Amino acid sequence: MAEKIVIIGTGPAGLTASIYAARADLNPLVIEGMEPGGQLTITSDVENFPGFAEPVAGPELMGIMRRQAERVGARIVTGEVVAADLKRSPFKLDLGTQTIEAETLIIATGARAKWLGLASERKLYGKGVSACATCDGFFYKGKEVAVVGGGDTALEEALFLTHFCNKVTVIHRRDELRGCQMLQARAKKNPKIAFAWNSIVDDVLDAGKGVVTGLRLKDVKSGEMRELTVDGVFIAIGHEPNTAIFKGQLDMDELGYIKTPKTSMATSVPGVYAAGDCQDRVYRQAITAAGSGCMAAVDAERYHGGER
Ligand code: NAP
Repeated sequence: MAEKIVIIGTGPAGLTASIYAARADLNPLVIEGMEPGGQLTITSDVENFPGFAEPVAGPELMGIMRRQAERVGARIVTGEVVAADLKRSPFKLDLGTQTIEAETLIIATGARAKWLGLASERKLYGKGVSACATCDGFFYKGKEVAVVGGGDTALEEALFLTHFCNKVTVIHRRDELRGCQMLQARAKKNPKIAFAWNSIVDDVLDAGKGVVTGLRLKDVKSGEMRELTVDGVFIAIGHEPNTAIFKGQLDMDELGYIKTPKTSMATSVPGVYAAGDCQDRVYRQAITAAGSGCMAAVDAERYHGGER
């Protein structure tokens, strides 16, 4: 029998949607993929989620949301949706080992870190190349590392890494950071943080040795190359939405973000809603993801004929 509502994802968007759907008596089934809790589980302290006067660790915050969702009746199953058929109703989700049918669907699959795309970066992943300082920073105690990127993530990663590392070089392709003023000020006054401006990573060294020994940097203005000796490099250059399985079935923008109108979380297929980072290329905050998850559940409830 088809589920009344299925929610894909257990980040702030998916769990908030499941809390609202459960309280609306829709008996939601939540599919938790390979990254339970989403991107907040690989961040350090969260200082900007309302309701927490003191910083709360990302994984702890997600654990609290998960317990809340389960307490109000959400059923959470583990599995990866490998294919979806949204052309028929009920919608069909293929999890490899089982198929789930859904009368309504909330897609809250989030986004994932982007990579530079260098062969050496791929080869040295896990051997000095990382996209998660919270996960791997501890391994670089007393060492020198680099962070690539100029946004909030890069600055947060750099600041976090100063707890372990002797020196952190932030490599940015421009001479002006994108991150918020508060993080910029903190990073700039931290004596352990240095900046390599107008620079891009031309190669991660040394793929031949199988371990990171440094970076070859290119000055984008002069074209000059130089080497920076580091023991590790953290890539923090933004994210891309996890929407590949819905390509061709839902309207998306050129980067793959699912299109939703300003006034609802509806997608181009009636009965399918999208929430959180898979449809948001502008705000991308935990609180906005949670808010859109609430909106998606309210929309789904109305679709089922619920009164509000
Ligand atoms: P982002 O804001 O998109 O920044 C990505 C950075 O990487 C930019 O500085 C960009 O350079 C650079 N970049 C992109 N592609 C590159 C490439 N191929 N080579 C070299 N550099 C490249 O991404 P983010 O920092 O992950 O942040 C994503 C969102 O999450 C933002 O809305 C941010 O505010 C939010 N966030 C918030 C917090 C917080 O509130 N505490 C923490 C983390 C993230 P350009 O500047 O030249 O484009």
